[in-house]
Amino acid sequence: TETVGLLLSRIRDVPDYPKPGVLFKDITPLLADPRAFTALTDALAALCVQHGATKIVGLEARGFILAAPVSVRAGIGFIPVRKAGKLPGATLKQAYELEYGTAEIEVHAEDLGAGDRVLVIDDVLATGGTAGACLELIRRAGAEVAGVAVLMELGFLGGRERLEPALRGAPLDAL
Ligand code: IMP
Repeated sequence: TETVGLLLSRIRDVPDYPKPGVLFKDITPLLADPRAFTALTDALAALCVQHGATKIVGLEARGFILAAPVSVRAGIGFIPVRKAGKLPGATLKQAYELEYGTAEIEVHAEDLGAGDRVLVIDDVLATGGTAGACLELIRRAGAEVAGVAVLMELGFLGGRERLEPALRGAPLDAL
């Protein structure tokens, strides 16, 4: 569609970043173009409605940039899921595997609970590790997963397959 073409035209491929052999998808040109950023915000807000989300989780850091305007547009609350050690209140933590070692994300425990239907937003789904850990957090908080929505899915990394058990039938949309 027209929107997909516009969005794709505003994503820059950066070879060998952050290390040799990696082709990094850079969304900063999209953020700098209000027409593209608005189109992306509108498309993600439409998914919130379609999936009946009552809360939006953004994944640090680029997920924050996308999820915040969607939250305002859709009129539903924004909840940050952060790398460990950045949230001041009582948190739930979830560890997950990286290529080398492990990482940990957390959320304020009081921000999610029974009755919430949560849409997770991020810029890129790569291996699916981050999003998978986030789905664990949401369920441990007692909330329901409305879906995962990303701008881009790097299909060759198999993130969709890895995420499938954690989705338990919830939709994964890649714009
Ligand atoms: P995953 O956990 O392997 O799926 O990695 C996803 C996380 O890494 C997301 O939070 C993305 O923001 C980030 N990421 C991985 N690859 C890229 C990329 O090419 N461009 C931008 N972000 C990326």
